[in-house]
Amino acid sequence: MSDTRHTRVLIIGSGPAGYTAGVYASRAMLEPILVQGLEPGGQLTTTTEVENWPGDTEVQGPDLMVRMEAHAKAMGCEIIGDYIQSLDLDSRPFQAHGDSGTTYTADAVILATGAYAKWIGLPSEDAFKGFGVSACATCDGFFYRGQEIVVIGGGNTAVEEALFLTNFASKVTLIHRRDELRAEKILQDRLFKNPKIEPLWFHELEEVVGTDNPKGVEGVRVKHTKTGEITEIPCKGVFVAIGHAPANDLVKDKLETHMGGYVVTKPDSTETSIPGVFAAGDLTDHKYRQAVTSAGMGCMAALEAERFLAEQEDTAGLAAQ
Ligand code: NAP
Repeated sequence: MSDTRHTRVLIIGSGPAGYTAGVYASRAMLEPILVQGLEPGGQLTTTTEVENWPGDTEVQGPDLMVRMEAHAKAMGCEIIGDYIQSLDLDSRPFQAHGDSGTTYTADAVILATGAYAKWIGLPSEDAFKGFGVSACATCDGFFYRGQEIVVIGGGNTAVEEALFLTNFASKVTLIHRRDELRAEKILQDRLFKNPKIEPLWFHELEEVVGTDNPKGVEGVRVKHTKTGEITEIPCKGVFVAIGHAPANDLVKDKLETHMGGYVVTKPDSTETSIPGVFAAGDLTDHKYRQAVTSAGMGCMAALEAERFLAEQEDTAGLAAQ
């Protein structure tokens, strides 16, 4: 069934940026609609312990997102489980078309679609996705009890995934293209102290090797970044944790982007190149990409949307006089 819903503020995305925008826009009496997308709660739902959310020494990522959703709802935000497949920003009101058949029209839009995990791009990586190759340790780690696995990457995600996977795996090899990790020092300390984790420096993934019947991974071929020497490492699981890219599919041809697709916002603002369209969180932030900074940008976006709508209404009022 197709129907149309109008809202003053449409929030697209349900990570910390989206839900915080929902809290603020609701408190501003804007009666926002928030459309959650394919992964309600966003990237934090695929993590475990979060230790840097202020007010919680330790909280599970999925629990934090359930609380944020409940908070936005309690403030009056309407939360809808739908996926926006296209967005028309050329005319007013803006129009967003949901998978459900609903068209959402909105006077202002807050984009908070976040980011998704990057892949290396090897054909063998693609061939074994879901059959031993994964980008989510919390989703798939359980399948590797007592097995040897490898993690690729050197940032926070890679180190957190490697640590988490030691709950299941007999051995975790962390393969990194340099000999220095990008991850926070506290995570590095935990990694180096963990007897199940062995770092392999100056190596890159060349190929995932496995069997077709049954389909599954048997190992990886890795190349030394300096000598070019190839080594084979037996393993049953390959976890790729090489960073994230902004989820900009809805707007990459419509809004100004930079730095590999991040939506450009005006300095000290969430305003994009189209008035009335605001961007918050990992979609626009190539620098910090933290839950707390995303939440901060969600707050800014809602305050700016409120101001934008008030100005529009003032202008319309003056024109009518
Ligand atoms: P990241 O910090 O960008 O790290 C990506 C890692 O993958 C880097 O070590 C990079 O190597 C490596 N890499 C990139 N492309 C590669 C390729 N093609 N082949 C091999 N290695 C490759 O990404 P992230 O770890 O996903 O973190 C993203 C953001 O989220 C960061 O700001 C991070 O702080 C944040 N985050 C925070 C937490 C937390 O606070 N607990 C948890 C997770 C993520 P180089 O180092 O050589 O560039």
